[in-house]
Amino acid sequence: MATSSTTPDNDELRAAVRQWLDANWDPQRTVRAWWRILVDSGWGFPSWPSAWFGQDLSSEEATVVHEELARANVLGPPEGAGPSMAIPMLLRFGNDAQKQRWIPTLAYGEEYWAQFFSEPGAGSDLAAVQARAVPDGDEWVVNGQKVWNSCTLFADRALLVARTDVDVPKHKGIGFFILDIDQPGVDIRPIKQMNGLEEFNEAFLTDARLPDAQRIGEPNAGWAVAMTVLQHERANFAGGGTFTLRTVEGGERFGYLDRTCADVLAEDRAYANIANGLPIGTPDAMIALARRFDRTDDPNIRQRLAKLHSLYEALRLTGLRGQASAKAGREGGESSVVYLGGVLVARMCRDLVADIAGPAAMLHGTDIADTITIAPAHGIQGGSEQIQRNVIGERLLGLPREPQVDRDVPFRDLRVGTQRD
Ligand SMILES: Cc1cc2nc3c(=O)[nH]c(=O)nc-3n(C[C@H](O)[C@H](O)[C@H](O)COP(=O)(O)OP(=O)(O)OC[C@H]3O[C@@H](n4cnc5c(N)ncnc54)[C@H](O)[C@@H]3O)c2cc1C
Repeated sequence: MATSSTTPDNDELRAAVRQWLDANWDPQRTVRAWWRILVDSGWGFPSWPSAWFGQDLSSEEATVVHEELARANVLGPPEGAGPSMAIPMLLRFGNDAQKQRWIPTLAYGEEYWAQFFSEPGAGSDLAAVQARAVPDGDEWVVNGQKVWNSCTLFADRALLVARTDVDVPKHKGIGFFILDIDQPGVDIRPIKQMNGLEEFNEAFLTDARLPDAQRIGEPNAGWAVAMTVLQHERANFAGGGTFTLRTVEGGERFGYLDRTCADVLAEDRAYANIANGLPIGTPDAMIALARRFDRTDDPNIRQRLAKLHSLYEALRLTGLRGQASAKAGREGGESSVVYLGGVLVARMCRDLVADIAGPAAMLHGTDIADTITIAPAHGIQGGSEQIQRNVIGERLLGLPREPQVDRDVPFRDLRVGTQRD
């Protein structure tokens, strides 16, 4: 893969990664074995703390490391909500037992986790969740419905947001839990998308159970935990070099763990399981497409390729700032800026692949058609773009807060007639 260097020199760091790869990369290893070696070395997740598989590197340095992994065409660390959202959340809010239990499993890609946040009546207004978690001895019993949950059919557990107290205002009665998916109380129903995949699902929770040891933080303090998860989700939409690094999801059900890395890397469409990743979503990939269709002489296409590169680069740098803020536990609104930039990039890519490929863009099941049909997810999946603009207005621009008449009203008094209690 052609990967241009997009960060300052960092020669020593690059040399250290290359040296390590020379000694350790063997494409004939299984994905499971490679992830152990990569993650234990600290090069898999270099911005994490050294006590937890990292090297305490800055986000920018971590991008350099991932650029080198991409340049060597090696398989990157496990992909998905576990490493990108759950581990940062556990590092901040998990107790020691929870960190010991789950961080290694997720870092090595041995489990895959889903995200059970959205509900039919609680998407943008996530604090309106109605799924109830009620204590029962040293367990919690959960009832309710979640929706649009990505990759749940492949998941071992889910990050769950559920109402724990209806007598306090909506943000103050939410708990955050880790729910085991394999149990009779969890019924997953796939939703068919226009690209033919069934990447996301509905989940019906009927007396689903989880031990109290799988509660993160205090029973009513889950809102702050959820916000941290969402901040990391948005910041991850602009991962810089990680965009060009080939990664796949962990967990037994995705089926990658016992295949060789060579086999997985040879797969033409390793992205196919991730319905929200654009197959042609980087300037490098777009230039390759323009070459494939002999369109690099076209002045209009050239202008647009340069425009895509410029936006992508600005976004990458803001993304690094957003990741640094998220890591430091600050929320300055950068993640929302990055997210909106990512939406623009997705739409530019959608239009460019169609104009470059012409009639060939109409062929079903190609990387071109998939780029077009996947693009609409951007601007919804990590929170709608209108909501991100609200966040920017309030946190970056100092505009007055959106009126929220229900902010101080006990949840029990809202949504009369639909409330489960
Ligand atoms: C590909 C994809 C993957 C997803 N994966 C997951 C997942 O794994 N887990 C999960 O829990 N959820 C997931 N989601 C759901 C996603 O988080 C929600 O779709 C999103 O938060 C929007 O919520 P909603 O669909 O209920 O829309 P609504 O909240 O009903 O919004 C409808 C429209 O109203 C606008 N709107 C609402 N409130 C305001 C406001 N205050 N100001 C201005 N405009 C407003 C919105 O911008 C939007 O245009 C996924 C979604 C997609 C598309």
